[in-house]
Amino acid sequence: MNVLDSERMADVLAPLGYSLSDTPDDADLVVLNTCHIREKATEKVYSELGRIKALKTARAEAGETMLIAVAGCVAQAEGAEIMRRQSAVDLVIGPQSYHRLPELIARTHRAGGERLAADFEAAAKFDALPKDRNARGVTAFLTVQEGCDRFCTFCVVPYTRGAEVSRPAEAIASEARGLAAKGVREITLLGQNVNAWNGEGARGLAGLIRQLATIPGLARIRYATSHPADMDDALIAAHGEVSALMPYLHLPVQAGSDRVLRAMNRAHTADSYIRTIEKVRAARPDIAISGDFIVGFPGESEADFEATLALVKEVGYASAFSFKYSRRPGTPAAALPGQVDEAVKGERLARLQALLESQQRAFNAHQVGRTCPILLEKPGRLPGQFIGRSPYLQSVHCDAELSQIGKIIPVEITASGHNSLSGRILEMA
Ligand code: SAH
Ligand code: SF4
Repeated sequence: MNVLDSERMADVLAPLGYSLSDTPDDADLVVLNTCHIREKATEKVYSELGRIKALKTARAEAGETMLIAVAGCVAQAEGAEIMRRQSAVDLVIGPQSYHRLPELIARTHRAGGERLAADFEAAAKFDALPKDRNARGVTAFLTVQEGCDRFCTFCVVPYTRGAEVSRPAEAIASEARGLAAKGVREITLLGQNVNAWNGEGARGLAGLIRQLATIPGLARIRYATSHPADMDDALIAAHGEVSALMPYLHLPVQAGSDRVLRAMNRAHTADSYIRTIEKVRAARPDIAISGDFIVGFPGESEADFEATLALVKEVGYASAFSFKYSRRPGTPAAALPGQVDEAVKGERLARLQALLESQQRAFNAHQVGRTCPILLEKPGRLPGQFIGRSPYLQSVHCDAELSQIGKIIPVEITASGHNSLSGRILEMA
């Protein structure tokens, strides 16, 4: 979502004459888009600001100005703290206020040094950002829902991104048609809790996907991120019936111990999660399952952690993200007793990641010798080499031609690694 938000900020600033620069060194405006989900991400903001401040000072010595804006969830959560800790920051702006960037920048310039902060304006963003988006390639993100009402006890999202809001289907479809007209072949529907989408004009996310699947030119649809308790039968059925819906499901489970899941307020058990996966696989047997995991949640014992390993073995993941529990001020879990030692967290994370990595390698190796329809996205690093995506969201390297970008081409997979596949194109499209 932050990648998309950065693109949207670039879009609203383009009419003012701003364009993207490759480095911050000679930028007139540096926007640092930030993430508040874990402590490490938040701390990075301050070290990065120190570096950008040095650039601003160098510019000032040359008689030029550089504005520094901090955007994203750290701006939302600790705007005043950022202003206090880093005097070089001109502007802080939370994720709901990006449509106000041009105005705020103009005001900062006009006031000559007045420092501004934009507050939370729930739901304003969808309507306020320009409808006509720039397409930056053959794949695009599209926001359909924002915010979260689930309040997992470890998570800052319900506080930084606010309550769940769904965009109406017509607004989404119109944006999707616009992207398709600009050559986008694959869209990823985004929301913090995307499968809880309940906007006007379609029945649930499944209904929305069925509508979008009829848009000419749009060949592939994905969505992220889903909550297991919102994985309804209609959405599961869509995986078996809508050919544009790609066989990939990111369904975070966080942990395999019911005791820990309860303390996390996850509203699902290990067993209900596994049953959901079974239903999804019954609808779409080849589906790739991906997940998120947290190790070292307060009170997690060795036995609890082993329940996570057991769940991973049972599910079999094609890819995954796993993290050490990070204590976030203001969330209920931060105040729980039984905070787990960092060294224990590190050791558990290493064991979990070794298992997940071996599953990912096995999933990738399974494709070798098969032929996959690959959406060709962009040139690779080597001459003649291009990068595309398999239906299972794997990166695939193959030799191709520029004119084939945006086409979906049968590729025979010849080799696999941990993070990508290689292959050769079977027919010229
Ligand atoms: N909405 C999604 C995920 C949002 S945050 C969901 O329902 O799962 C992305 C991931 O960050 C989470 O799935 C979780 O694994 C991780 N995460 C969130 N808060 C965290 C914390 N305090 N410490 C460690 N990982 C965290
Ligand atoms: Fe955070 Fe996801 Fe839980 Fe919402 S459902 S509180 S975004 S982890």
